[in-house]
Amino acid sequence: MAAPEQDTIAAIATAAGRGSLAGLRLSGPGAFASLSRLLPKDRKLSSFLPRRSSLTWLCDLSGNRLDQVTVICYPAPHSYTGEDVVEIFCHGGNLAPALILEQLCAAGCRLAEPGEFTRRAVFHHKLDLIQAESIAEIVAAESPAHLQHVLSHLEGAFSRQVRELRQRLLHSCALLELGLDFSEEDVEFADRAQLHSELTQLEVMITRLLAGFERGQALREGWKLAIIGKPNVGKSSLMNALLRHDRVIVSPIPGTTRDTVEERIRLGGHLFRLIDTAGIRQHGDALEQIGIARSRRAAQEADIIVFVTDGAAAADHEDEDIAAACRARAASGSLLGILHISNKADLPASPQAFQFEAGGVATIRTSATTGAGIEALENALVGLVSAHAAADKSGVGYVNLRQRLCLEKARAALHAAEKSLHDNLSAEFIAVDLREVIYQLGALIGEVTSEDILGEIFANFCIGK
Ligand code: GDP
Repeated sequence: MAAPEQDTIAAIATAAGRGSLAGLRLSGPGAFASLSRLLPKDRKLSSFLPRRSSLTWLCDLSGNRLDQVTVICYPAPHSYTGEDVVEIFCHGGNLAPALILEQLCAAGCRLAEPGEFTRRAVFHHKLDLIQAESIAEIVAAESPAHLQHVLSHLEGAFSRQVRELRQRLLHSCALLELGLDFSEEDVEFADRAQLHSELTQLEVMITRLLAGFERGQALREGWKLAIIGKPNVGKSSLMNALLRHDRVIVSPIPGTTRDTVEERIRLGGHLFRLIDTAGIRQHGDALEQIGIARSRRAAQEADIIVFVTDGAAAADHEDEDIAAACRARAASGSLLGILHISNKADLPASPQAFQFEAGGVATIRTSATTGAGIEALENALVGLVSAHAAADKSGVGYVNLRQRLCLEKARAALHAAEKSLHDNLSAEFIAVDLREVIYQLGALIGEVTSEDILGEIFANFCIGK
């Protein structure tokens, strides 16, 4: 990684707008000198103890007061970035922080780019790339479950495992390559049987991590929950009841919901994306047919299906058809579960109402009108996700897209190495592929990386991070 320029960067690290406090950050060799130029004449930089908060006035370069602030100085290397860092907490609002930032720039700093503080932290080995990415995710997290997961990445459990695996491979590869130097004498230093067992273990681990990608998406963006069923059974009303406001138009005319509608809710610490779909019907006008196709797709892509029927009306073949589609979807795997909702419980129940005859599918009686059974539905949804989380043995957590690409390349190289080993090829073929695995694992944690990739990662950060 290229060295950061030897300049000092400054940014407002808190969100813009009115608030009681705002925070600014400086990092770089000139951080203390820049602060010093904004101090009142009678205040010496030496009066600020490292990592202790001190109250002081800050003034512009002409000596006019800007604000009374608290300042913390972190001398290198014991700081977030590994460089000299100053954190300033001033009064909030739009003016005081902006004026201080302007004067800091006049005193020798330059404005930081998005993620530049964290990028410097990675450069100085304060964080690896996985930890840096987890910091951006903490800022973006919208559910406690997501936050908990990201905190474990920040803590470094994932990185440690990758580093350990990489270390083991480096050792095996070194032995293989040592053997190459003595190839005339027909000596091999690497134990091929042991290498084979190591590669197998590594593959299991990589495959497990890759399987966690979809689940990581669900944590980040919410579990996709498709509410499906015939028109007029109360899907939109149920969605409104879950959201506790009227987001979706409810009407007694079948086929009112022509498009899929998406809203997010948080239940029991988990984030859900509710997708209300157009009623699945065999007939209907052309526009409605498009809606029906979207319903099927939503069910196909969903993590959880909520299948709604009218408990006050006799079931018909359309209910059966949708139930069959649900079963087929469940059989294809990767579905957390199906919940059958028998709605309109406030009306007299029909003896011919639809019964879901499939193992393990709970039926919940609800009334979207009175709210009866909505809490039971919410509990069942949380139960499905919690049961999944408890059963998930991936341990180290879920990977993001960049991490997935590295892992996929590592796995492909691993396969090639295993094949060469299996075909009893000479050590140099195996070593080439192992080097690629080592490279990709290094890229995963940021030990080897390119400027392009770093640019892409840090462009998504907030300024001041
Ligand atoms: P969708 O087509 O499945 O989305 O159904 P809607 O939510 O648009 O509801 C269709 C009709 O059923 C509307 O007139 C709703 O007021 C009514 N409805 C929905 N849920 C209930 C319920 O639990 N009880 C009663 N009595 N009517 C309901």
